[in-house]
Parts: sequence; C-alpha cells; structure tokens
Amino acid sequence: MIFENTFKKFLEVKDLFKNLVNDNKRIEELFKILEKPQREIKVRIPLKKDNGELEIFEGYRIQHNNFLGVYKGGIRYFKEVNEDEIKTLAFLMTIKCSLVGLSLGGAKGGIKVDPKTLSERELENLSKEYVKKIYDFIGPAKDIPAPDVNTNSKIIDWMVDEYLNISNSKDMKLKATFTGKSIENNGSEGREEATGKGGEIILEKIVQKLNIKKPLTIAIQGFGNVGYNLAEFLYQRGYKIIALSDSKGGIYSKEGFNPELVMKCKKEKGMISGCYCVGSICDPKLGKDILNEELLEIDVDILIPSALENVINQKNADKIKAKIILEMANNPLTEEADKILNKKGVIIIPDILANSGGVIVSYFEMLQNLNNEKWSKEKVFNELEKYLNKSFNEVWQIKENLNIDLRKASFIVALKRLFEKYKT
Ligand code: NAD
Repeated sequence: MIFENTFKKFLEVKDLFKNLVNDNKRIEELFKILEKPQREIKVRIPLKKDNGELEIFEGYRIQHNNFLGVYKGGIRYFKEVNEDEIKTLAFLMTIKCSLVGLSLGGAKGGIKVDPKTLSERELENLSKEYVKKIYDFIGPAKDIPAPDVNTNSKIIDWMVDEYLNISNSKDMKLKATFTGKSIENNGSEGREEATGKGGEIILEKIVQKLNIKKPLTIAIQGFGNVGYNLAEFLYQRGYKIIALSDSKGGIYSKEGFNPELVMKCKKEKGMISGCYCVGSICDPKLGKDILNEELLEIDVDILIPSALENVINQKNADKIKAKIILEMANNPLTEEADKILNKKGVIIIPDILANSGGVIVSYFEMLQNLNNEKWSKEKVFNELEKYLNKSFNEVWQIKENLNIDLRKASFIVALKRLFEKYKT
C-alpha cells in the first residue's frame, strides 16, 4: 500500500511528461517498468542468541532499477521493516539517483529487528549473516549498500569484513561494495555528515530564492545521523532550532537549542527529554518536554521530518503550521498529506532532493575506493555543492516554467534522465 500510494504521486506527472516529450508509447513502457522492482530478494537470517536460542530474522534487498548504473541504497534495521516499505524506498532511490545526475540505480535493504534488543555480539553476527545471504547479489559492479535507520559505519565495517572474508580476496577495490564505512576502513571524509550537509545546502537555496528573512524557526523530528548533523549545520548558520525529538519524545524552547550540547546531554542521559541546552548551558528552566506528534504541529517557519515515513498524514496534515517542509526522512508525507499541504500553500522540498547529499557522497566514496584516492572533507563538500546546485537549478527552472510544485518538478528532472537512457 505504501508503494502504491508513493507511485501515485509519481503517476501524476505522466501526462505532464508526455506534453514535454512526444513519445507516448515509450513513456507508457517506462512507467510500466518502474512500477515494479527488477529483483526482490527475501532472506531468512538465523541468529544464535547469547542465551543459546536460535532466532530467525526476516531480511530484504530490493533492487528496483539499474538503467543508470549499479544498484545503490541503504540498509535499515527496524522492528517494522517490511517488503512494501523497502520496495518504496528502493523506488525512491532510483528516482533520487537520476534526479541528482548519478550513474547509479536504486535499491534498498533491511532487517526486521529492533537492534536495541540485541547485544553487540548478536548485532555483529546478524549483520554478517545478512551479508552471507545477499552476497551473490552485491558488489561494486552489482549493488552497493550503505547505512540507513539504525545502521552506521560500525555495522557497515562488519559487513565489509564478512564480504571480504567470503570473497577470499585481498583486492581493496572490493571495499567499494559498501559505502558509509568508517574513515579508517576506506570510508569517505564527510559521509557521516553528508545528508545533513545536503539538506542545509538545499534549504539555503530555497530561502534565497524566496527571499525569506532570517532568523527562521525550525522544528526537527529525529535526532540521529540526519537530524543531528542538519541541526548542527543550521545552528551554525543562525537558524533558531526551537524543537527537537527522538523516538522517546521531544523538547521545546523558544530560545532555540544548541544541538551539540543537546546531543552531549542525550548521550549522558540516554534520552533527549530534559536536555534544554541553549547557548552554552543546559538548564531545566530553558525548555519543556513535548510529544513527537506535538512537534509536528507547532508554530514554526520550517518543519524538518528526519525520522520515519508517513508521519504527516491525513490525520495531522491540516494541523501543520509550518510554511516550509524540508523532507529529510524518506517519504515522510503520505499522498493525502501532500495534497492537503500543497493546497494550503506550504512549500514542500521533496525527500529525493532534500536528502540526496547522502547518496551523492556515497558515490564519491565509491569513486575514491575504485581509484585509490582520498579526498579532503573540503573537496567532498565542494563537489557535493556542485551536484546539488545543478540539480536544484534544473528543478527550479521546471517548477517555474510549468508552474508546478517542487516534487513534481523533481520527478520530471529524474524522468528525463531515465527516459534518455531507456530510449537508447
Ligand atoms: P538514525 O537511525 O541515525 O536516526 C533516526 C532518528 O529517528 C533517531 O533519533 C530516532 O530516535 C528517531 N526516531 C525513530 N522513531 C521515531 C519516531 N517515531 N518519532 C520520532 N523520532 C523517531 O537514522 P538516519 O540515518 O538519521 O535516517 C533518518 C531518515 O533519513 C530515514 O528516513 C532515512 O531513510 C533518511 N535518510 C538517511 C540517510 C543517511 O545518510 N543516513 C540518507 C538519506 C535519507
């Protein structure tokens, strides 16, 4: 159902695209192809728990499309992972890679597990077992996984270990099978912060285009890799971050939080609740706790969902007060919410553009591994900015020319590249 609804948003641009490109037959064919993944791998992953019991976990790797290059996409660990969700995220990867001009296709993977319930040893073994199961389908010339929700460079490093083990090869280029590795393990400078950095670059461009005056208030749902790094970049630029949250709840302060101190406090306490850190101090008088649902509905200039999909839906879309939504999570708005908010005149910066910094820098990591290079963080961020500038300008021009919203314009840009490739 999630896939169907997401694909519906995409189908809305079919007629527009037909008006731009006079080749209805092949456009229909392309949509028919994109409507289904090219390959769906479902695996059962056995894990011997610390207590000696065997538990079987469900895992997926879904390869949506490889017209533009090898499959690429993250792996998530989450207790509600399912085929429909992974299929949707794989489709979005195809569209995202095309939109930002990468020679990569789209894929996604996941394991249905709550990683917080596993010991470190169990987590390592589960990650390695997953690699065993999908080994034949991944590699630098096939499919290149990366981190996503609840996975990080440590988990990716375990996966690389297992991949090299099975390959029984010393060829370091094989490390390009995964991106998001630690720096010591041939990861890229800047990959950790890349998705947040990309979000900052895109938001700044929107603010400039619309000529909106700062300071602007921000609420961010999700305080993991994406939410935290973005919060930090935006704080440095003078945005006022008045609300933050993680899976356990949220915090609010009209003064605006210092994300670095909030993170330090969260690590000490194990939760974000009570971490009212403003300027250089954390003080109970400086803020209050809020519910995750409240965070989405507070009166703020910019709302940034950075956790999970479908959090803004038919039930709460009407209550959203933000003027801009920067979709850092994948698919945070349902199709109905998208319609309601567009009607209200909210500017929605779509996931495929807003969070594309991650896959762009993953691509740089892959290039560095294959060419035996090491780029500085400065070079990584400069190159990232070039890719995002180009994609943003293309999207903006289409949006202006056709008088459509940013999501539709992004779909059109992505479709153009996919169609060019399909034609040949
Ligand atoms: P993460 O695991 O590092 O962080 C997820 C955060 O969301 C955590 O703070 C967690 O506590 C919070 N969270 C979980 N459930 C929540 C809930 N119900 N309400 C509020 N907060 C909740 O994951 P991440 O890598 O930051 O990914 C976040 C989103 O960004 C996902 O949609 C992911 O697909 C997308 N994304 C990630 C990357 C990347 O490079 N990591 C790239 C593109 C898109």
